[in-house]
Amino acid sequence: MVGGGPSGSAAAYWLANRGVDVLCIEKKHFPREKTCGDGLTPRSVRQLQDMGLESALAGHHRYTGLRSVAFGREFEMAWPEHPDYPSYGYTVTRFDLDGLVCAQAEKSGATVWQGAEAIAPLDARPAGPGGGPAGAAGARRRSGGAIVVDKDRGTRTEIHAKYVIVADGALSRFGRALGSRRDKSYPQGMAIRGYFRSPRHDDSFIESHLDIRDREGNVVPGYGWVFPLGDGRVNVGIGLLSTSERWKGLNTTKLMEQFVDFAPKSWCISPSTACGVPTGGRLPMGLAIGPRVGGDFVMTGDAIGAINPFNGEGIAYGYETGRIAAGVVADALEQPNRHDLDSYEDRLQEEYGRYYAVARGFVKVIGNPTLMRGMVGAGMYSKPLMSTVLRVMANLCRPDELGPAEALYKAAAGVSARLEVRRSTRG
Ligand SMILES: Cc1cc2nc3c(=O)[nH]c(=O)nc-3n(C[C@H](O)[C@H](O)[C@H](O)COP(=O)(O)OP(=O)(O)OC[C@H]3O[C@@H](n4cnc5c(N)ncnc54)[C@H](O)[C@@H]3O)c2cc1C
Repeated sequence: MVGGGPSGSAAAYWLANRGVDVLCIEKKHFPREKTCGDGLTPRSVRQLQDMGLESALAGHHRYTGLRSVAFGREFEMAWPEHPDYPSYGYTVTRFDLDGLVCAQAEKSGATVWQGAEAIAPLDARPAGPGGGPAGAAGARRRSGGAIVVDKDRGTRTEIHAKYVIVADGALSRFGRALGSRRDKSYPQGMAIRGYFRSPRHDDSFIESHLDIRDREGNVVPGYGWVFPLGDGRVNVGIGLLSTSERWKGLNTTKLMEQFVDFAPKSWCISPSTACGVPTGGRLPMGLAIGPRVGGDFVMTGDAIGAINPFNGEGIAYGYETGRIAAGVVADALEQPNRHDLDSYEDRLQEEYGRYYAVARGFVKVIGNPTLMRGMVGAGMYSKPLMSTVLRVMANLCRPDELGPAEALYKAAAGVSARLEVRRSTRG
């Protein structure tokens, strides 16, 4: 396992649970800072529950839902009831969260090396024709294991592994060495966040502002957030989508300063309540990165761009793709003749393929400032409509009922499928 963040630690946990001998290599020492909004949605909470970690969250801030704010209006929307997910979330700093999950993997039998970096695959030669930018097709590189440098001990070790799971995050240097690359026609997010002291640190709603603007006053595709942490601080940030050339030159630091100035005064966020300098990062999304499967490796989480393009959420998708990868690798180890790693790509497509195609279409639409303004403006006149949209955007449609959100998603998925057929017959 290369990387011990959400996707690497979840994969290590689920592999260890299947009795697999697993080594997780993490270049940092926990606890460590990780730039994030620290928001856990019901999908994340479900995965943490499944890993036996809900009691470990008990001292952290549990919240009820999302407050959407735009054009002078606001709606508080509780997380919806769902048969598979809880109707609450948590905010937990990544400083605290990631070490918890990694320790749980260790308790389940995984070996973890912290402060050790996988600097290169042992054998990254392509063993077949190279593949396209996304998916598994054609690419059959092998990793063989990894060369691992432990800076604390001053050692360099060759680790031979039957299978490697690459969970090294958005920059994914190890993944790139195995041939992965981002399909630039897919959207990518940029986000920046900082911590502020606030009297509303234990508010029971996380807040998102859908009308952040550039210097010309255009509503930009993205949102500003204030996530209460329950420990005297709130996590404040903005996320932007680089949907077109038009938005690529935007300076996130400047937008963040404007947002801090513009956010409701009751939060008391200002340069004087800041707990440090804001930091930012990339959000690769919509399964933008591939190939995701090689001869002896699979990739997970941000390393494959698993973030949900609708809302920029990536922790849940890190846990989920880590879990799926662990299942595929454990099956391949147990029954080598019946299973190969390609089923990983099939599982990803089954879980996320259509949903992410719809999300990518949505992101294209909101890249147009007039449409973005029109959609947010219309949504902010109806709480039921916004609640419906929230359910779709948080990937919380029910499998057992056809309510308004499920109908909306079904219609959008139908349009997206028809557009795809038209594109493929044209080209
Ligand atoms: C500003 C910002 C705000 C965000 N807010 C949210 C939010 O509120 N909620 C949400 O769900 N998502 C959020 N995200 C997205 C979320 O942070 C990521 O999707 C998530 O961290 C992905 O998990 P991962 O395990 O794939 O990668 P990472 O969390 O990046 O973990 C990768 C790990 O691998 C280690 N590593 C890397 N290379 C090597 C190597 N060669 N050898 C050994 N170790 C290595 C790193 O040290 C790291 O610990 C946000 C992202 C940003 C940038």
